[in-house]
Amino acid sequence: MGALPKRKPSHSKTRIRRQTKKATVPALIKCESCGEMKRAGFVCKNCGKYKGKKLV
Ligand SMILES: [Zn+2]
Repeated sequence: MGALPKRKPSHSKTRIRRQTKKATVPALIKCESCGEMKRAGFVCKNCGKYKGKKLV
């Protein structure tokens, strides 16, 4: 007799679990060119440079 749950956990539940797992927080670093805070690994939105090179 039923030790098993009648229903499998719904897709929405598993989705919520994945979302709450760990939110990837983008690391903020100081831009080498202008000193503005920017996301690590991304082109600086302020001066358009990445690691001293202008990409935009
Ligand atoms: Zn910059």
